[in-house]
Amino acid sequence: MNDVIPQRTRVAPSPTGDPHVGTAYQALFDVAYARQTGGQFVLRIEDTDQNRLVEGSEQQIYDSLAWLGLAPDESPQVGGDFAPYRQSERLDTYRPFVDQLIADGHAYYCWCSSERLKELRAAQEASKTPDTGYDRLCLGLTRDERAKLPGFSETPVVRMLVPDDVSLTFDDLIRGEVNAPRPDDQVILKADGFPTYHMAVVVDDHLMGITTVVRGEEWISSTPKHLLLYKWLGWSAPAFAHMPLLRNADHSKISKRKNPAARLMWFREQGYLPEALLNFLALLGYPPVHDDSEVETLTDFTATFDWTKVSTVGPVFDTGKLDWLNATYIRNLPDDELADRIIEFVYECVPSTAENHTQTQFETVLRAAIPIIRERITLLKDAAPMIDYLLVPAADLTIDDDARDALPENTPEIIAAATTALAALGDADWRADAIQATLRTSVVEGLALKPKVAFNPVRTAIAGRKVSPPLFESMEILGKGESLARLARLA
Ligand code: GLU
Repeated sequence: MNDVIPQRTRVAPSPTGDPHVGTAYQALFDVAYARQTGGQFVLRIEDTDQNRLVEGSEQQIYDSLAWLGLAPDESPQVGGDFAPYRQSERLDTYRPFVDQLIADGHAYYCWCSSERLKELRAAQEASKTPDTGYDRLCLGLTRDERAKLPGFSETPVVRMLVPDDVSLTFDDLIRGEVNAPRPDDQVILKADGFPTYHMAVVVDDHLMGITTVVRGEEWISSTPKHLLLYKWLGWSAPAFAHMPLLRNADHSKISKRKNPAARLMWFREQGYLPEALLNFLALLGYPPVHDDSEVETLTDFTATFDWTKVSTVGPVFDTGKLDWLNATYIRNLPDDELADRIIEFVYECVPSTAENHTQTQFETVLRAAIPIIRERITLLKDAAPMIDYLLVPAADLTIDDDARDALPENTPEIIAAATTALAALGDADWRADAIQATLRTSVVEGLALKPKVAFNPVRTAIAGRKVSPPLFESMEILGKGESLARLARLA
């Protein structure tokens, strides 16, 4: 693969709220392509719309990408040869290019007030004219000439002069030849002197040496404008890959308002493993790497990555599949690592768990319980509630009403027989297998009961509920004294 050109890719989110899952989706494809070709993945913060900035959002973008293992090679946080990577720190960069476009006749000042533009739009809608967009009232006028006309605003914007023969087709790595609608005379410099997205994105992608622009399909209609800017500025354009939009089960566009899973932080808060989420994202609109399994690593994905395999149909975001993947990854983690992940999750996302128990008690019990809960948890958040009965002293254990109601009449007899037999078991023999054998002999055989009936009161005494992780292992973890104290409460 000597002829591979190292690709520089980027994500360019605006820090206007919790990071969107679409940012991670694009970042995954960016990373795969950059790594496969020996290039770099860049994170640029597009914060020129100062009114929409949300405190903390930028940090969440760094944190969530790092959590997923998609940390950028260059960013405002880590720096890089093309710094600064935050658009608000690059404002001086854009202006000379805007001036150049004006001097070359590709862009013009527009003093139309927002009221005039609103009226223009309303009139166009009412007359149902096919000519929508800006009517070029300001084109060719000096400031003084324009000031004599109605709807004048002191501070002008700058607009692109989109020519009649603007090219409306372009090549997309995923979609092949794409047709886009004719653009309006797009504003490129706002009245406050800030560039709009369209100007800034082209200047930055060029100056940062971005070779492939990966972004959502909602930007297809903007691409002809961007290509014009590249042409006018004498720059070669990057390649484009417009990713399909992620959809809800009802096929609507996934949005943070409608779907909690649109928020990238949500996955962490729920206790999804980053590698499971990454695997899930890699399967959205993209075929599995392996023929016989949907479980794959980022390394597998990267090694075989190919733009032509990306689907153009918006993939449905099916969290059922993600849950399955998460449970699969949980089952495959070594005991210690799973315990570490749960502990880290609990301290970060459910600090109340840590407040209710001492750290050592929680960690010791959790580590001991991993083998009995591993198969029963889908999300890391399922673990702590599942072992809560192992963490309280006998006197504080709540016995659920439905468990108490289901106790057989001969419960005192069962508890007495179990207690006597278990009390005789030596401390060194207090292991799940010996506990089980002892209870079988004393209660199942001794009282001639079906195991289900015989163990019901024991489980209720030990766990306080009808369904719990395995009983004998739970008793081993609790220890002899604590187990007998629990049995005594139902005696
Ligand atoms: N700042 C734009 C966004 O928030 C970036 C679009 C692009 O990648 O060109 O989606």
